[in-house]
Amino acid sequence: MFLDIGLGIFAAMAVSALWDVPLTLAFAAVGACFALLPDLDFVFLAIRRRNALHHREGLHYPLLFVPIGAFIFSWFGGAWALLFALASLGHFIHDSVGIGWGVQWLFPFTKDHYSFFYIYKPRWRAEYLPRQWLYIWKHDEIDALDARYGDPDWIRNIYSTWHPYAVAEFAVFLAAICLFWLLQ
Ligand SMILES: [Zn+2]
Repeated sequence: MFLDIGLGIFAAMAVSALWDVPLTLAFAAVGACFALLPDLDFVFLAIRRRNALHHREGLHYPLLFVPIGAFIFSWFGGAWALLFALASLGHFIHDSVGIGWGVQWLFPFTKDHYSFFYIYKPRWRAEYLPRQWLYIWKHDEIDALDARYGDPDWIRNIYSTWHPYAVAEFAVFLAAICLFWLLQ
């Protein structure tokens, strides 16, 4: 979540530089909201008590979400459309590295999930996945993958410890806050 907020702030700084829009707190806050928006499906799944931690359903379809959202926000002006596109792309890239089983980048053409560079591995798991630049997971295999390699306690094991993934996320967030402050 912190990384998404940081990415949203970075997106606001980029749009402000490219589009000659004042870099206000409100603009950066909207960028942060845009970067968090795809996880609304997580909230709905949690409310419906479905297995929200292992699935990204509903809004995590970049090929649909980014252009449709950018089109909707273009009604307010090009800068808002670009802010939406950059912030939500940042979210999807973030979701494709480390935690979970990637993002369905090419949906509706394929239901495959794509992850990049690194997959979080709980220490207690005996089996490890090989390191790769690109992982492609079949949609129907996600539950089995999670049962074999996943961590049901991933929130606690990553975010309540000094796990490098959590540290990296927080560092990006702090960098975004500092740079925003410096640009005021
Ligand atoms: Zn997400």
